[in-house]
Amino acid sequence: MKLIILGAPGSGKGTQAKLLAKDLKLKHISTGDLFREEYKKETKLGIEAHKYWGKGNLVPEDITKDLILKNLPKNNYLLDGYPRTIYQAKFLDENFTPDFIIVLDVPYHTLKFRLLRRAEIEGRSDDTEEIIKERFKVYRKQTSPLLKYYKDKIILVDGDRKIEEIEKELIPILKK
Ligand code: ADP
Repeated sequence: MKLIILGAPGSGKGTQAKLLAKDLKLKHISTGDLFREEYKKETKLGIEAHKYWGKGNLVPEDITKDLILKNLPKNNYLLDGYPRTIYQAKFLDENFTPDFIIVLDVPYHTLKFRLLRRAEIEGRSDDTEEIIKERFKVYRKQTSPLLKYYKDKIILVDGDRKIEEIEKELIPILKK
């Protein structure tokens, strides 16, 4: 099974991805986590990519492709944070066509509230008010067109609920 989870920054896709991957025995691949790890290890890729994600912009396609080729297994994974552009979706389709795309639907005011709260708790460096604004802009412009691109494979869920409620709704659908 090849799953993708999509949603705006703050939609809870990372949290939901971890839970679902465990429930369904899939490998959880978060490009955001991988970029942060590479940066922490001070690799060439990590330092170069940080110039972009540190400001809330997307990492250039060639660097992102290197990262994904290095980390994507042939099957049984849940992708979180990839694809984020039509270019990436096409690349994925050429190589590994996904089975389902889960989309977490969350209203803007909840997203903003969650990200600012996360900024206080976790202190992620790209969770400042200004960078959050930029990430929303990038999501609207570059990532939201994917909803149309994938329209036949989308499972749309209300993400403005308790974590366990969302998980409970999704598992039976995905296990079918
Ligand atoms: P968010 O919680 O905002 O969705 P992530 O942790 O998934 O953030 O990703 C953090 C940052 O890493 C993004 O804002 C972006 O700059 C970079 N990034 C992650 N995935 C990709 C990708 N597929 N293409 C380009 N940049 C990416």
